[in-house]
Amino acid sequence: MTQTQNEPLDLLGKDYYGLESAIRYWSVSQFKDFKKCQAAALAKLSSSFPEMKDDNTALIVGNYVHSYFESTEAHKAHIQKYCDLMISKSGKNKGELKAPYKIADTMIKALENDSQFINYYQGEKEVAVTGFIDGVEFKGKIDCLNIEKGYFVDIKTTRLPIDETVWSSEFETRLRWFEEYGYVLQMAVYQELLRQTYGKNFLPIIYAVTKEDIPDTRAIVFKTKEKLRYELSELEVLIKRFDEVKKGIRKPEPCGKCDFCKAAKLSKRIEVY
Ligand SMILES: [Zn+2]
Repeated sequence: MTQTQNEPLDLLGKDYYGLESAIRYWSVSQFKDFKKCQAAALAKLSSSFPEMKDDNTALIVGNYVHSYFESTEAHKAHIQKYCDLMISKSGKNKGELKAPYKIADTMIKALENDSQFINYYQGEKEVAVTGFIDGVEFKGKIDCLNIEKGYFVDIKTTRLPIDETVWSSEFETRLRWFEEYGYVLQMAVYQELLRQTYGKNFLPIIYAVTKEDIPDTRAIVFKTKEKLRYELSELEVLIKRFDEVKKGIRKPEPCGKCDFCKAAKLSKRIEVY
């Protein structure tokens, strides 16, 4: 961690993505980690998070786009923090932005030129919110919250065309990409945390922007309550058990297949053939 001595931790602000915050609060991405592999998810919490590396490109690209629409200062700060990873150090493109960030720039332009997006993306930016789901405390960070009009917007960048579906091994069928990647669950949790905080129901909106050569943009508005309710009920089935694992009350179940399980020899050791 890069904490200096006199600076207190701000778990919902500047230290939102740090280890201490992940230990203190549940988040949707942590829940997804536990669902994938409890053993690996728990190990991630017992050591400090590795500093952002190249394989975190998707996250850095996402934040690059987000920060642009947050404020000039936020965008500048993001570039300053990650410029080493964002700029080519050798080859014919030396000194230029690396390809993923060039694409990010085209996504920013696409959103900027979308007057519907500009109209929707009005409100408070990067709002941290907390609340309890089944007795377990969650945190969330809302890209754009419009309290007065009662909706919130989350920007999602995707390499897939917006109408594309992807195979879900869990449900053994094709799902929309935002269903498969857990974004409906994220919307459901944010809506619930906001309901607890502000005492009203907010309308969730995913603003999708694609990484295609010509980026497409679209507001996906979550009017149907059933899907949101379903995702929340699925989380409620598992969260208590996961929380016991996180607190050390219950032993983590290894998935037996991921890199962590393989390295820790938690994969299947004997197969009777
Ligand atoms: Zn595993």
